[in-house]
Amino acid sequence: MNTKEIIAMTEAHYLPVFGRFPIAIDHGEGATLYDADGKAYIDFLAGIATNALGYHHPAIVKAVCEQTQKVMHTSNLFYTEIQAKAAQQLAEVTGMDRVFFANSGAEANEGIIKLARKYGSRKNPAKFRIITAKDSFHGRTMETLTATGQDHYHEGLTPLPEGFTYVPFGDLAAIEAVMDDDVCGVLIEPIQGEGGVHVPAPGYLEGVKALCEKHDALFLLDEVQTGVCRTGKWFAYMHSTVKPDAMSLAKAIGGGFPMGAFVTTERLAHVFKPGDHGSTFGGNAISCASCYATLKTLKELHMDEAAARKGDYFQKGLKALQKKHPDKIADVRGKGLLIGAELSKAGACLVGRALEKGFIINCTAGNVLRFVPPLIITEGEIDQLLQCLDELLAEF
Ligand SMILES: *Cc1c(COP(=O)(O)O)cnc(C)c1O
Repeated sequence: MNTKEIIAMTEAHYLPVFGRFPIAIDHGEGATLYDADGKAYIDFLAGIATNALGYHHPAIVKAVCEQTQKVMHTSNLFYTEIQAKAAQQLAEVTGMDRVFFANSGAEANEGIIKLARKYGSRKNPAKFRIITAKDSFHGRTMETLTATGQDHYHEGLTPLPEGFTYVPFGDLAAIEAVMDDDVCGVLIEPIQGEGGVHVPAPGYLEGVKALCEKHDALFLLDEVQTGVCRTGKWFAYMHSTVKPDAMSLAKAIGGGFPMGAFVTTERLAHVFKPGDHGSTFGGNAISCASCYATLKTLKELHMDEAAARKGDYFQKGLKALQKKHPDKIADVRGKGLLIGAELSKAGACLVGRALEKGFIINCTAGNVLRFVPPLIITEGEIDQLLQCLDELLAEF
């Protein structure tokens, strides 16, 4: 089928909830995607910060193929070697003690929200409030869209679950002002992704953790987007001096397979009693094979350091563009390969123009170009995008 036919068939049957690029992807090679008509695109979106190793890394293909020959799914009523290995590997790279596998970021966040509620309820039935940040993004289930501090995700969905309080991101005094002993958890992204790539000032995570400790609340980090080498460390919390009590993960951990997870500490390992939480597909054998191969390969490639290096190079290039087009680029920010370029006006048209020129980029929060390429992107490919942006900004 060609692009036109694929789009027509999709539009005839699929629920029209996505604003999609007008292309149909056929396959990928490295950080390049090819559409059904054979046109190539250098990819700066990576399936939304997911395909860290590109689209079919040989180590992942091998691990997945081998697992499919053995068993694809068992449920969690049984043990499997591959789940044991994936859990051990994930505990090691996160620096945490206990792992739970889910299927998506939203589900991972549901898990840590439930963990905080259970934790609070043990102390006091009224200890259920969870503080989250404005402009955050935590997922699309009822609980996680309520945790998400953006009104437009709440519209038309009332009554929403109770017990969430929103504060401006990056503002410790704002948390302190609403913090009390009825709070069971504070949930934030260490760097806000979907909300426009907002990096808090140094010391913010440390301050949030201290407030959590003072009020016996759990310090919860959503590292669904920032995790797995994206920001130039294995996890973004590693840029700080504190560790979360629990952390949600998804996107890149599955190496392209649907997988979410949360990790927590030994202290909290028994907050859930057997039966309090679960999943049929979570920790599925194939997802675990993909996860294990992904983490192992990223480790072998020292991808945390590589992402930091390439991210610095990319940001330098964008800052040079900002100097050249000061009226068009208002700010360049981010860490590692999670980078935002804030434009002086809405950026959707730039995304369309870049696509025509063979580059996949993304615009979030209306006017922030968000770059989250596969971590295997090369400096040469970054140069090509910078050159393209230079031309596009001239006419923007
Ligand atoms: C993408 C994302 C989610 C939701 O993940 P899904 O897998 O789409 O449910 C949650 N939190 C953050 C920070 C995200 O970027």
